[in-house]
Formats: sequence, structure tokens, C-alpha cells
Amino acid sequence: MSELPYPYEAPASQALFDRAAAVTPGGVNSPVRAFRAVGGTPRFMVSGSGAYLTDADGREYVDLVCSWGPMILGHAHPEVTAAVREAVARGTSFGTPGEGEVALAEEMVARVAPLEQVRLVSSGTEATMSAIRLARGFTRRTKVVKFAGCYHGHVDSLLASAGSGVATFALPDTPGVTGAQAGDTIVLPYNDLDAVRAAFAAHPGEIACVITEAAPGNMGVVPPLPGFNQGLKDLCAEHGALYISDEVMTGFRTSRAGWFGVDGVVPDLMTFGKVMGGGFPAAAFGGRADVMAHLAPAGPVYQAGTLSGNPVATAAGLAQLRLLDDAAYERIDATSAQLRSLVSEALTKEGVVHQVQNASNMFSVFFTDRPVTNYDEARAQESYRFTAFFHTMLAHGVYLPPSSFEAWFVSTALDERALQKIADALPAAARAAAEATA
Ligand SMILES: *Cc1c(COP(=O)(O)O)cnc(C)c1O
Repeated sequence: MSELPYPYEAPASQALFDRAAAVTPGGVNSPVRAFRAVGGTPRFMVSGSGAYLTDADGREYVDLVCSWGPMILGHAHPEVTAAVREAVARGTSFGTPGEGEVALAEEMVARVAPLEQVRLVSSGTEATMSAIRLARGFTRRTKVVKFAGCYHGHVDSLLASAGSGVATFALPDTPGVTGAQAGDTIVLPYNDLDAVRAAFAAHPGEIACVITEAAPGNMGVVPPLPGFNQGLKDLCAEHGALYISDEVMTGFRTSRAGWFGVDGVVPDLMTFGKVMGGGFPAAAFGGRADVMAHLAPAGPVYQAGTLSGNPVATAAGLAQLRLLDDAAYERIDATSAQLRSLVSEALTKEGVVHQVQNASNMFSVFFTDRPVTNYDEARAQESYRFTAFFHTMLAHGVYLPPSSFEAWFVSTALDERALQKIADALPAAARAAAEATA
């Protein structure tokens, strides 16, 4: 790695990481946080405010991770925080139905036309797992089609070619998932409708559903080619399978109505998480009322959760969604466009071959000379350049996702000072990327 402009030690974070490693595998509770793809000491954050995070060593960073999506209004937004305080003061969990979960479901249904009914859960993983179970129960079929590079949480049957975290570690598969669990999963190349057609032809009457990220962000950002999502929907309809659009990342981020609000393709089922929880564990799946009617207690497909629809989480999510009006999305879209051109200009100036790819306001940078349309192409990039780029940005106080297979997340909190800090960091980071060697 090239020389860095600032002292680069993070002694307080390192001390916490050492303590963490003694009691937690790898020192983290979610693998990508460990910086293994880029090396170095993961920063232990102690506080966040607006566009900024502060680490244990007292250094401030402009945050372009936003907790991997949820913090779309920035950290500790006063109105979200107030809603949380009010909810906490009334008690934190009742194990009974409550008005907050109804209000959140109503807000979601009002925004996303194909969502007739929703069921709240606590994580995106639970949402996709439950949606798959429901699709199988509804169709009475077993097989599931997914795409290489798409991540749908750590659901056993979906951990085949699952992008980001898994991509970062180049694990072809994960031990602990049995052949039986993965055997009903058909993994196809992304953006390849012919492959989907062939799979339906090879397994007549067996495919319960096709699940896809509405616009993938877990192999870096790889938008669907024009007509791809509609083609999936049409093939599913033709063959009696359900089309599941995973909007855990894109939902309420890429527009008021998520990716559905961008491409208008109507799924049978959808999954949500991240933004809808306002920084708390809240997620959901939903869609066609006739399909959702198969879910317990209305129907026979079992699904449950002790903390599902938690009053604090739903209060945070509802407060956040209500603040996400058209003006908020215009601001995020404009900031994203500005950042994309700043990054591209800086890299171009240093002669670094790259693609800045976006799906609405979600974007990422690939160090490659061709547009990336699938996982194989994503993996062919020069990731070592990202490592140098990442560490130089970090040294200049800009916190990027610590992997070249992750989307960058923009919040409404990015102000002039934050954007200037990013702009000031980019020339050195681009130079470091140019000088990097494999
Ligand atoms: C983050 C993510 C998930 C998993 O959500 P968790 O809350 O981490 O379990 C599922 N699908 C997509 C598209 C995601 O980005």
C-alpha cells in the first residue's frame, strides 16, 4: 500500500478489537465488519450524529455506509430519536398486538402498490426465509431459483453464490449447509433470462419461486438490464411460480416505493428490512393478499416471532418513513449523482480504469474497464486497487464500506462540509488506487 498522509494508528479500536476477539469469533458480530477484505483495524464507533461517525480514538468520519442502509436520514435524527424515546417510555415489548405495527404496515402498503398485506419480522434474513417458505407452501413446489451474487441474508438454502460477505471471503459455499438444504436451490447467472427459461424447461412444475434482489447491491451495484425484472415476472407467471423481489436494501431507499417505484414490475411477494426499521431490527415480507392468506394464523404456513412488530422498532421505522418525502429522495438522488461524478473525476484524473455503477441513488465503484452485469464480471475487477483507495479515504476521515463488493449509501444528512471532506480525500485515494499493485 502507498504511504498514507496521516498517522494511521487506531489504538483504542485495536484494544477493543483484541477484547472482542477473545469473546467473539473474529471479534465481530457480522463478518464484513472485520475489515478482512481490506486489512487493518476495524474502527469501533462510539457515536453518530447526522453524516458523521466518531470512533473510539476520537476521530470523525463522513459515513457512506449508514449501517449498510438503514440510516438514510443520518445518525441520531432528532425526530426519529424522539419517537424512540416516547416508545421506550411506554414499555419496550408486550408480546401482544399493538397500534405501532399496524401504522407501520399501513405506511408500507400505502407506498408500495403491490403490497396488499405485510407480516413484520426482525431481520431481512427472516423476511426472505419466510417468503420462500410461503412460496413453497402456496405452490406446493420445492425448487427455488436465485442468482449468483445476489444476497438474501444467511438463509441456509440461499447461501449459494451469495455475494458480498460471502464474496469477500471467496467461500464457494459454507460448511454447515447440507446438500439437502442447498439441493433445491438453482443458482443462475444474473441478467440472463435465457438461463431462467432453460431452468423452467428443465424442471417443469417444480419451481416454487424466483427470488432476486430488486436491483442488486451485494456484488457491488449491478442494476438489472432493461426488461430483466419484467422477464422474470412473465416467466414466473407463465410457469405458475412466484416472483419474489428482495427489496431489503432498495426498499424505501431507491425511491419512496423502493425499486418498484423505479421499474414498476409487480412482484407476487416482496421483502424489506434496513430503511424500514429506522436503525432498529424491523423487517417485513408481503405482497398478494391471496398468497399472504396462506400464512398462520390465517392459513397453514407457520411463521412467528417473539419480538416481531416490536413497539420501539416500529416507532423508529414509522418516524423515519414519514420523514422520507419526495424532497428527501430528491436530495439523496442529487447527492448521489454529485458523489458519483466526484469519484469518477478523481479516478479518471489519475488514469485509474473504473466503472461507477448505480441503481437510482445506490452506487459502487468497480475497478474494471467494462460495465459489470453479473457476478463473474464483478469478481474480475482489480480489488487490490479498492484496498488502497479505501484506506486512503479512511485516513482522510471518510468511512466507505470495507469491501469492493458493497454498495455505498448516501443519507440526507450529507451537508456541504461532509461533501467537501469527501472531495478533499479523493485525489489522494485515486492516486493510491493508481499506484496499487496486486
Ligand atoms: C441486508 C440484506 C438482507 C439480509 O438482511 P439482514 O437484516 O442482514 O438479515 C437480505 N437481502 C438483501 C438484498 C440485503 O441487502
